[in-house]
Amino acid sequence: MLPFPINEMLQSLPVYQPGRPIEEVARELHLDPATVIKLASNENPLGPSRLALAAMRKALKQVNLYPDGSAFYLKQKLAAHLGVQPENLILGNGSNEILEVLGHALLGPSAEVIVSQYSFAVYPIVSALFGAKLKVVPATNYGHDLNAMLAAVTDDTRVIFVANPNNPTGSTVPPSDLRAFVEAVPAKVVIALDEAYIEFLKDALDLVPDVKSGARPNVILMRTFSKIYGLAGVRIGYGIAGAEFIAQLEKIRQPFNTNLVAQAGAMAALDDSAHVARTRKINFRGLKFYTREFKRMGLDYVPSGGNFILVKVGQGQQVFEGLQRLGVIVRPMGGYQLPEWVRISVGTPAENQRCIEALKQVLRFAVR
Ligand code: PMP
Repeated sequence: MLPFPINEMLQSLPVYQPGRPIEEVARELHLDPATVIKLASNENPLGPSRLALAAMRKALKQVNLYPDGSAFYLKQKLAAHLGVQPENLILGNGSNEILEVLGHALLGPSAEVIVSQYSFAVYPIVSALFGAKLKVVPATNYGHDLNAMLAAVTDDTRVIFVANPNNPTGSTVPPSDLRAFVEAVPAKVVIALDEAYIEFLKDALDLVPDVKSGARPNVILMRTFSKIYGLAGVRIGYGIAGAEFIAQLEKIRQPFNTNLVAQAGAMAALDDSAHVARTRKINFRGLKFYTREFKRMGLDYVPSGGNFILVKVGQGQQVFEGLQRLGVIVRPMGGYQLPEWVRISVGTPAENQRCIEALKQVLRFAVR
């Protein structure tokens, strides 16, 4: 019991449970870390781009200096890449930080937040942190029911979080449905469109022109260098929105929220389109491999637009633990109220093969 009062919402606030690090699992289970594979946090199995690595190595020599807090060069480059102005961009310590910045800007005890069932765990956490009221709209086929989310809007609604593709289910929203949704949501409600995995999608609705033209001042798109760009460890993501909205959000972030190494890595990663293309290709192949294997094994799965796949294994926690003992870290889904499922991040072909063999062993399927 603390001898001083703390903010009331912290009493019921859950701590975000990340994927388990390789070293931690190896230590606990007396495994050689070199033999453990992590398919638990939707990271890039090819590693960071070599161009990014070289740029980051160079940047290391300057870490006695503060980074450019406004990230002038990265914003210039990213803006050109996206076809927007630097004023349309806010950078974050991962896109997670953008979610928190939105909380500061928009939420309070009288605010209402709308999310879908089975959507990213950080939305309820941010909502609770600012004392807002969370409305969870039942999912359809493990994905967002945009019509029901629209119908849930009230005078108090401040933000609707939509993840496309969604984590942990991998579900996507059809472009025409998203278009209709964006047009129907009243302008006084912010649509926070989480596009952390958008680069893996083949036919995504591009809302950047809407944001750029000022047609949708209530839309913010959130993206990241953590996934397809392979820079999760240096923490850098961004939001794209109207200049007026961004100017307000910029007041909230810490002065040096994105570090010097990350800024250099992100700039170089934008140049490495070959690495992005390779990552996309290996991901499509991996998803195909998993779906084929799950079908053969008679396991239900949710078709995924991301770099991970949700599969129904029965006792999710037990299967997670069994796989872990075999040196394969996946993500149990009990925290998402999906206790029969685990989420597997797509790895290299060899990692995917190993994961399926381990899964068969754990589920007592004969390994061929
Ligand atoms: N949104 C979604 C849907 C995610 O899955 C993640 C990463 N797990 C994030 C945001 C945050 O990613 P980051 O902070 O690394 O950019």
